Amino acid sequence: MSKQYKELKQLIDDAKHICFFTGAGMSTESGIPDFRSQNGLYRQNKSFVDIVAADFYEQYPHEFWPLFKEIFHIKMLHQYKANTGHRFIAELEEAKTVHVITQNIDGLHQDAGSTNVFEIHGSIKRAHCPSCKEEYGLAYLNQSALPQCTACERLLKPNVVLFGDAIHQFDEAVTAALSSDLFIVLGSSLEVAPINQIPLLVSRYNRTNMVMINKEPTHYDYLFDLVIYDSIGQVVANL
Ligand code: NAD
Repeated sequence: MSKQYKELKQLIDDAKHICFFTGAGMSTESGIPDFRSQNGLYRQNKSFVDIVAADFYEQYPHEFWPLFKEIFHIKMLHQYKANTGHRFIAELEEAKTVHVITQNIDGLHQDAGSTNVFEIHGSIKRAHCPSCKEEYGLAYLNQSALPQCTACERLLKPNVVLFGDAIHQFDEAVTAALSSDLFIVLGSSLEVAPINQIPLLVSRYNRTNMVMINKEPTHYDYLFDLVIYDSIGQVVANL
């Protein structure tokens, strides 16, 4: 085992409360493209930011839904399964307090068994009625091109945080990050604000050990005590 992996293993063994902060790179090994890599969703869909937007949903809800479903491959979502990285995090709950702050909307941390997950950008697997707030799952969303509330007949709104919407559970996520004794980022370019401010807050106000695991460098690597440029699957295999 290399020096870096020995150090990571020691940090994990010693920690009592680990806060993981995960991005789209967490799920690429489950087959879901990330956002900014070569085959990422953003590069495949030049109009991504215009479509996945609260304004667009408000003004053109009938145009919004088919495009939204196409971009996120909604019909195929049930095929994506949690990978070894998701399971590694979930299994740590047997011995430690574990929180997961995720930018992902795919629900794979919960599928793997993690119980303390903050879905900052919401979930692709649910939608709700803007009037009565009734929630609907993926099976219902796949039944029709334009999913409506069965009670109000309003067109549903995805539980994904659209550009222009407020993010979810930011306070709770910051509290978990600041009370952890080990903070680990996995598979995120840290390009998306305001969530990318959480590592800065940890560095400034918690000053606990911070680890970055990503395939490529990010602008914030200087904040971290240990930086490993590798795939998450490889890191877990080495541990
Ligand atoms: P990003 O695409 O900006 O960055 C992903 C990073 O992960 C990249 O730097 C890439 O090099 C790295 N990476 C890819 N595969 C990896 C692997 N196997 N091991 C280690 N590193 C790997 O993603 P982001 O920072 O999460 O920001 C993108 C935004 O898009 C987020 O807000 C997220 O909500 C959304 N998104 C979510 C999903 C999902 O739910 N699975 C997928 C795509 C985008």
